Amino acid sequence: MVKQKNICVIGAGVAGLTTAKVFKARGHNVTILECSRDLGGVWEPARSYPEVQTQSPKDLYRYTDKPMPNSYPEWPNGPQVHAYLTDYAKDHGLMPRMRFNTTVVGMARRDSGLPGWTLKIRNPDSSTAQEDFDFVAVCTGQFNERRTLSISGEDDFKAAGGEILHSAQHTDSMLVKGKKVVVLGGSKSATDIAVNSVNAGASEVMMVYLEPVWRIPYFIGGLINFKRILYIRAQEEMFRAWGLSAASRVAHAIAKPLVWANWRGLEALLKFQLKLKKCDMVPTGRIEDGVNCSVPIATPGFFPMVADGRIKAIRGTFQRYDGKTIVMTGGERVDADVAILAIGFKLGVPFLPDVYRAKLVEADGQYRLYRFIANPDLPDMGFVGFNSSFCTVLCAEMAANWLVRYADSQLAKQPTDDEMHKNIDMMLHFKRVERPAAGVYGGLCVAPYHFKHFDELLDDMGATLRRRKPLAEKFTPPDADAYARFLASAPDYRVFAS
Ligand SMILES: Cc1cc2nc3c(=O)[nH]c(=O)nc-3n(C[C@H](O)[C@H](O)[C@H](O)COP(=O)(O)OP(=O)(O)OC[C@H]3O[C@@H](n4cnc5c(N)ncnc54)[C@H](O)[C@@H]3O)c2cc1C
Repeated sequence: MVKQKNICVIGAGVAGLTTAKVFKARGHNVTILECSRDLGGVWEPARSYPEVQTQSPKDLYRYTDKPMPNSYPEWPNGPQVHAYLTDYAKDHGLMPRMRFNTTVVGMARRDSGLPGWTLKIRNPDSSTAQEDFDFVAVCTGQFNERRTLSISGEDDFKAAGGEILHSAQHTDSMLVKGKKVVVLGGSKSATDIAVNSVNAGASEVMMVYLEPVWRIPYFIGGLINFKRILYIRAQEEMFRAWGLSAASRVAHAIAKPLVWANWRGLEALLKFQLKLKKCDMVPTGRIEDGVNCSVPIATPGFFPMVADGRIKAIRGTFQRYDGKTIVMTGGERVDADVAILAIGFKLGVPFLPDVYRAKLVEADGQYRLYRFIANPDLPDMGFVGFNSSFCTVLCAEMAANWLVRYADSQLAKQPTDDEMHKNIDMMLHFKRVERPAAGVYGGLCVAPYHFKHFDELLDDMGATLRRRKPLAEKFTPPDADAYARFLASAPDYRVFAS
């Protein structure tokens, strides 16, 4: 008999919503605390830059029990994703459980000796309060605390009429109309904003970036949706994963020349299709060495605009502002009206006490999370959405289903603390030594190993169904409907109020 718990879900983004749904469905008493005024996390309208759309195709960015509407395009835009998430929350009766404009600012173990945590909460009226919970699900995402850039001359730039914005603050494309815009960064958000600025009528657009990276077009070769090539198990198996058997290692060694040829072929195709030479944007690294959550999709129109000069792309970074001029590290001086800093976000769990943060994050920034979800030294707590990927919604839902069983000691393979530590150490070795590309974002990225990660979670949960028919399983992307069946095949249970 499993006892009902008071659960706090921190964050109402993709991960928080599914976590709340999953814990509520088992019978737990769920409260969702969200510091913004609305749900959605990165898809909340007040935080989305103009024309934002998903990188993932819509069937790979959905919960298992709710397809995106048929009327949505293959790559939905920000307002559509937000509407989808709002519907999901309503479908599962989550709205009454949510407290908006409510921020978790600290936490400590309950001093009564009971399991769980006392959370320090800042209420909408700025008062603070303390509240006890038996279990805390941290669903605060990787894109919340904006990175900042501090270089000299910022005040003078602003005094001269210049504007400096983080990409998450740029929500109105009219801001750039008729202006000289300089975008700093080379991520998908940087290229999206550069293209949007051209389309919105900026007088000049420049993108300043460090190194060219491989970008994947929505349609490879102009024809094939990238999900049919890059999201499939057959492609995933070209990467050496963790914990391989001796036989798998031999198979990898034998297939090495074929795998090598596969990647060189893809590089040649991308160079040709995206005209990377003409844009002077051919990456120096091998494509397979950089496949992880940071691989951007090529914003449609970006490379043609670089090729014809509508976007000027220069390498380097900002060194300082000088009046309304930005001086680059290479010495180039650029006049600007608006500087948009697409420089990303800081990863962290700022409300965690230092003593627990030290158990969670290693000195080199790598996270100690078993299955990307739990740490045995942080009891009565789990993390959902920290297994980020190219299909984050499914990842979050899988993690939430694992976490509720872990919290209730209902995993078919409930790990001991020792097993968790050993596995965490093995994974850290994999990320540091065997595949450094897996170490990005504190090692919190399961791409390109989605299938392997899901296999492990389903196995832990005791799912009896884990795969589709052999051909579908190898050569089609993860299927949310199939994962609904796999999850349903794991042992069921309900909790009881005492
Ligand atoms: C522009 C953009 C496009 C993206 N496109 C894709 C895509 O196509 N495919 C894909 O797989 N991923 C994509 N991502 C990654 C995206 O982050 C994930 O898909 C997903 O939305 C993350 O959800 P989350 O719930 O984990 O985090 P978030 O969406 O960041 O939500 C976390 C929530 O926690 C709240 N919060 C944080 N701290 C506190 C606190 N102390 N107290 C209370 N509340 C708190 C935040 O306000 C936020 O609402 C994209 C990201 C961005 C920024």
